[in-house]
Amino acid sequence: PLPTAEAHLQDVANVVARRSPGEPEFLQAVSEVLESLAPVLAEHPEFIEAGILERLVEPERQFIFRVPWTDDRNRVQVNRGFRVQFNSALGPFKGGLRFHPSVNLSVIKFLGFEQIFKNALTSQRIGAGKGGSDFDPAGRSDAEVMRFCQSFMTELVHYIGEDMDIPAGDIGVGSREIGYLFGQYRRITRRYESGVLTGKGVGWGGAEVRTEATGYGAVFFADEMLQRAGQGMDGRTAVVSGSGNVATYAIEKIAQLGGRAITASDSSGYIVDEAGIDLELLKQVKGVERARISEYAERRPGAHFVAGGSVWDVAGELAFPCATQNELDESAARTLIANGVRAVTEGANMPTTPAAVELFEEAGVLFAPGKAANAGGVATSALEMSQNAARSRWDRDKSENRLHDIMRDVHEATYSASERYGRPGDYVLGANSAAFVTVAQAVLEQGVI
Ligand code: GLU
Repeated sequence: PLPTAEAHLQDVANVVARRSPGEPEFLQAVSEVLESLAPVLAEHPEFIEAGILERLVEPERQFIFRVPWTDDRNRVQVNRGFRVQFNSALGPFKGGLRFHPSVNLSVIKFLGFEQIFKNALTSQRIGAGKGGSDFDPAGRSDAEVMRFCQSFMTELVHYIGEDMDIPAGDIGVGSREIGYLFGQYRRITRRYESGVLTGKGVGWGGAEVRTEATGYGAVFFADEMLQRAGQGMDGRTAVVSGSGNVATYAIEKIAQLGGRAITASDSSGYIVDEAGIDLELLKQVKGVERARISEYAERRPGAHFVAGGSVWDVAGELAFPCATQNELDESAARTLIANGVRAVTEGANMPTTPAAVELFEEAGVLFAPGKAANAGGVATSALEMSQNAARSRWDRDKSENRLHDIMRDVHEATYSASERYGRPGDYVLGANSAAFVTVAQAVLEQGVI
């Protein structure tokens, strides 16, 4: 006889734990998904029988490679590069590259695993992968970043292709890095294969609004979620962490929808600006000058900088963690709840620890998991791929309208799955179950591969 849903989930959890010693982030991402799936498996014994979950938790293949490059002092530096091709049931592998000293196999696998479900929720035809390096771009010259990217691509070129695996940006990888990576890909292959990378410059194949898409999309999702619960973004105060692409454009969209974002942060600390963050100044300090966030407070009357500390100490009705994994823990959640937070929307991937998520649930705080709320970035990447394939270019309005529609659909699919499986408004359950059913069905129909 088939094992029960619970027994099956336990078996899968055991296999993953045995195979992944020293991979805490990956185990965290897997167990968070497994915890949602009992009702789905109870309804679909064929997924148990076909071993769908065993197949989803094991990447199709993974590459780890050496990345040697020469710094400005003529010293040779060596970093480690990764590309994990997690699942291609719905389309070619798709997902970003992260350049950050914290990158290791566990981090890339957790991100790749999340990407399976996120990409499925977008309803675009994209599978899931992730890659990156422990290279630290902070303080490196453009020339150093270029040489690193060229060396990284010299190996990555063997694994990617517009119908095979399409990387994009993530932390530490923006349009500058995508430009250098694309240049080297074109040089090695002698092909102008536009759709092999997304997040390209808009003058040479990039999609309008791709840079803004993750942040905008997270706010669109939050707005849908708040409207469903009564009243949208208008007039609300938001606490945002991070100061990269996701945070910057979340802050912009919050303001456009009538809210007020009052914080931003980086690894050195956070700023509070009760009047609402001045977008131009933030972009100048973090985007153009690549300076510390304290610079913002130096130049803006009324704003102040807090060295170290937790941005979650600041009170606001809405919280948008847009920095990195596990940045919002149990004690931060308690503070936010005590300060009256109404909704938490993950702009980053897995920024909220499981214990913090549980506290939000108990307190009745709306909680939007990243795999749904931040899917706008990768969804717009898929739109970029379509434009590249058609050799066309959409204008800003069309691009943003498509993004908005997609985020409404992601919200709708997520909410209705939460209803279907008995916990209306539980977006974690909704996102995991809706995404899983989509991928599982595709895996099932394609046979044992
Ligand atoms: N790195 C982004 C994410 O976490 C975007 C990936 C992409 O555009 O392929 O979804």
